[in-house]
Amino acid sequence: MTQTFDPADLPRALDDKTWLLVLTGAGVSAESGLPTFRASDGLWENHHIEDVASPDGFRRDPELVWRFYGERRAGAAKVEPNAGHLALAELERRLGERFLLVTQNVDGLHGRAGSRRYVELHGSLWRTRCSSCDLVPFDDHSHPVEPPLPMCPNCGALLRPDIVWFGEAIPYHGDFAVREHIYLARLAKERLVFLAAGTSGNVWPASSYVSRAADAGAETWLADPGVPANRGAFDRHLRGPATVVLPALVEAFKPSA
Ligand SMILES: [Zn+2]
Repeated sequence: MTQTFDPADLPRALDDKTWLLVLTGAGVSAESGLPTFRASDGLWENHHIEDVASPDGFRRDPELVWRFYGERRAGAAKVEPNAGHLALAELERRLGERFLLVTQNVDGLHGRAGSRRYVELHGSLWRTRCSSCDLVPFDDHSHPVEPPLPMCPNCGALLRPDIVWFGEAIPYHGDFAVREHIYLARLAKERLVFLAAGTSGNVWPASSYVSRAADAGAETWLADPGVPANRGAFDRHLRGPATVVLPALVEAFKPSA
């Protein structure tokens, strides 16, 4: 994260007639010090991803999976939301219903930073659900989680973290919220900006958001310290870490006269 961000790179400032759709990913959490899954070697904290983040892995060794997520909960509880999280909460305060955040992160840091209008695409570390029945997922801050493993009060099956694992479907409500936000912006005939931060969103379904927003006439901005392969999908690249770029967007915000 040595890239120097130049505020002169900022596109036209956000103002209170702007609709903003933000996608955040692992880079934003990493800046709070949370280690994240590295696609390069398929490891997450020294575990093979299929062992700790797939339905098969859970069937094979639920104790290992619960120990792993207990450790992730403990780790997430120790870190604080950073300037990037806080800047997004501030933009939400200024934009109200014109703001929507969609995150690939499961650590709950956006909520702790004060965000309310957000969707957790990949679930939450802090919720538990049944591995079998449709028990409503519930808030769960327990860690560590050790045997005997928690069982469903409805059906007796093992409970599991409410995380979307590899091979599982992304809940439809995230996609619905994105479509609705774009639709409302068009209906209002106001400016729409799509901003991806800490992720280039090159994994489906997030990968479809940038093109969907662009098709609706949105400006598409990428806040990222590196140059991802799909950089070309965006109009503008604000090259720098989210902790620098997002506060700069707040700084440049233009309230109406
Ligand atoms: Zn159940």
